[in-house]
Amino acid sequence: SAMRDERIKKTKTVCTYCGVGCSFDVWTKGREILKVDPQVEAPANGISTCVKGKFGWDFVNSEERLTKPLIREGDAFREAEWDEALDLITRKFNEIKEKNGPDAFSFISSSKCTNEESYLMQKLARGVIGTNNLDNCSRYCQTPATMGLFRTVGHGGDAGSIKDIEMSELVIVVGSNTSESHPVLSTRVKRSHKLNGQKLIVADLRKHEMAERSDLFIQPRPGTDIVWLSAVTRYIIDQGWADEGFIKNKVNKYEEYKESLEQYTMDYAAEITGIAKEDLIKTAEMIHEANSVVTLWAMGVTQHLGGSDTSTAISNLLLATGNYGRPGTGAYPLRGHNNVQGASDFGSMPDRMPGYEKITDEKVRKKYEKAWGVPLPEHPGLNNHEMVAGIHEGTVKAMYLKGEEMGIVDSNINYVHEAYEKLDFFVVQDIFLSRTAEFADVVLPASPSLEKDGTFTNTERRFQRLYKVMEPLGDSKPDWQIIMAIANRLGAGWAYEHPGEIMEEAAQLTELFAGVNYERLEGYKSLQWPVAEDGTDTPLLFTDGFPFPDGKAQFWPVKWTEPVQYEEEYDIHVNNGRLLEHFHEGNMTYKSEGISEKTPRTFLEISPELAAERGIKDGTLVRLSSPYGNVKVQCLITDRVSGKEVYLPMNDSGDAAINLLTSSYSDKDTDTPAYKETKAKMEILKGE
Ligand code: SF4
Repeated sequence: SAMRDERIKKTKTVCTYCGVGCSFDVWTKGREILKVDPQVEAPANGISTCVKGKFGWDFVNSEERLTKPLIREGDAFREAEWDEALDLITRKFNEIKEKNGPDAFSFISSSKCTNEESYLMQKLARGVIGTNNLDNCSRYCQTPATMGLFRTVGHGGDAGSIKDIEMSELVIVVGSNTSESHPVLSTRVKRSHKLNGQKLIVADLRKHEMAERSDLFIQPRPGTDIVWLSAVTRYIIDQGWADEGFIKNKVNKYEEYKESLEQYTMDYAAEITGIAKEDLIKTAEMIHEANSVVTLWAMGVTQHLGGSDTSTAISNLLLATGNYGRPGTGAYPLRGHNNVQGASDFGSMPDRMPGYEKITDEKVRKKYEKAWGVPLPEHPGLNNHEMVAGIHEGTVKAMYLKGEEMGIVDSNINYVHEAYEKLDFFVVQDIFLSRTAEFADVVLPASPSLEKDGTFTNTERRFQRLYKVMEPLGDSKPDWQIIMAIANRLGAGWAYEHPGEIMEEAAQLTELFAGVNYERLEGYKSLQWPVAEDGTDTPLLFTDGFPFPDGKAQFWPVKWTEPVQYEEEYDIHVNNGRLLEHFHEGNMTYKSEGISEKTPRTFLEISPELAAERGIKDGTLVRLSSPYGNVKVQCLITDRVSGKEVYLPMNDSGDAAINLLTSSYSDKDTDTPAYKETKAKMEILKGE
């Protein structure tokens, strides 16, 4: 009743923003959020949060929330009831399936949604429509890291917990703006560095806050990390500093790997990367002197033509120095979104079922066919990059996309928008009328995290429960209910009454999550995968070896791939990434008043040298043009960047959207866009 709703209550939830996975109590009165109250027992954050977790919640009551389904009529949308929208979807889906077959469909899952919702999305794509054309936004970020770890150590997740990062003697941060992208995690590193004598090496183009605090800051030329990583590893082996005992007992292919390092001398690395040779030697010495090393990395590594290979090189270095399987060691690709880990974990990938079991494995398919009572498609599907190409080629006709602003965050968005225009039928499910939704035929109103139950998995592979804080706004519904409604109209006959039942089904089918259930996750309780049937979880991976048939990891030789080459006139390298205050494209944070007042729009960071050379002041409006498009943005002069390196935060969906500039080049092993290999020319816009 209304009176009950007006009572003050507190509910435990998990942050909807980044992959650190802070959890806290939210105090509410009806729909009003009174305060965010972190608790000591919160496993990832204790009593800390960052500005987004603390103040970034107004968007749930924004007037721009979608509260009714929308159906396209010509150039505009009109509101509709659920029945009408679902009838239309059912009719169009059936038509397209009959005419063009199941592989004319494509599905985009969301890293903002819960594990249970990711599970249902892949069940709908595979079990109801019959296609593996299914992906999620980790394709834009950490899929190369997952690939590098699959190749070398067998599990595509962080090797340990944030606690391990905290207790490590040496933290190496490569291509990660940790203090803005993963604020609470970075605070724990900063504290350890200050109080416990932890050492910190940062490799980055941009002198961000972690770089300023580091003991050693190295600045490789864009796209050359693999060269210094390989040279440092070779030097360590040559000096006799490798952990030969660990390698002998636990790692295969050492000889082959050593041969692959031949060309990576310190002189070669200094020449290619521009890092001084003494700094490269110092890096090797610091690794040698530390009893435990962790490496954190993010988009600065992965969003390149050779993103998977560089991630592999990081893992090779850790293997060579015995830095896996002990407290305070290991590889930590920092997950960007609250549940980007879980979106892949629960099978929203074109080649993997939940728990990363391969779709091409007949045993795996048989298991699911038996449980679901339907045949499954056996060939791997298209990833999101290939879907866009497929739409352009006319083979992909329909897309069902939930909670993903693909029309802003994919690279070369002019090309993506042209693809959307060609779709026969496009369903977008979101909490706002996103830029992507503007291209849709039907828009379905979904509920954000505060309006539903479920689980998220953070960067530490940690499952945490979120509880419904308030009822869905208007006629919006939790994503799992919408997916089920569509599936059932297509004849699926699903009858889940609560997300806990979905998790129960997933756990029964998946070795990695066998012991996960809602009782074991009650309140602030959490579990880190793999979780055995008896509920034993795994905060630190690889203590008893590696998940390969002989229990050994393997070195994986890799080579440097030169970055994308541009014509000479494109002389400015456009780095890009996050800002502390805004999350990604900003669809949620711009709708949170406190935050958008402080940082109302995006800006371009340019170096004092470049500003002097071109006569640019703070606030000067410039146009950047690449071969793919152009942006207009105001400048901010700062020594965080140097030379002809500029930095454009990605939180703008208008004139200054970074992906108007980026290309369709992508990592050669995973198709992750090479966002970080973007160049442009710059002109000053006078009188504007
Ligand atoms: Fe949320 Fe990440 Fe900030 Fe924690 S650090 S409050 S998870 S955005």
